[in-house]
Amino acid sequence: MELRDLYQDVILDHSKHPRNFGTLGPPAFEARGNNPLCGDRVTVYLTLDGDRVADVRFEAKGCAISVASASMMTELIKGRPLEEVRALFSRFHAAVTAKNAPDAANLEALDGLAALIGVRDFPTRVKCATLAWHAMSSALDGSGTTVKTE
Ligand code: ZN
Repeated sequence: MELRDLYQDVILDHSKHPRNFGTLGPPAFEARGNNPLCGDRVTVYLTLDGDRVADVRFEAKGCAISVASASMMTELIKGRPLEEVRALFSRFHAAVTAKNAPDAANLEALDGLAALIGVRDFPTRVKCATLAWHAMSSALDGSGTTVKTE
């Protein structure tokens, strides 16, 4: 796989026109992610309604993959039960770090995230693709700390 193949239309679209870009004030949970290898920085803000994600926003400075991944994440998790959000993150994380390529069923289970699966051929880009997810997860845990992907 060539590096240019990584930049599918859906990724370029999200990186140029990020969805849910911005901030949420208190009492939103918030957490930062920092990927020093690439220089990506992301802050995720989210509010809950019971055990669902009520709203989610993010701010990011970084490469196309990190911004697109954050944007795609906000679209996928908004309104979703936390249990599903955590399960999706865990499937996504497993798929991009697994030794073997995901099969069709696994890709299906990734929702729209299958577009990002190409990062598994570029280990340094895996951190770009998962940064916002780690920050989101940290925000949910209420730790509100900065997540480093190193
Ligand atoms: Zn990056």
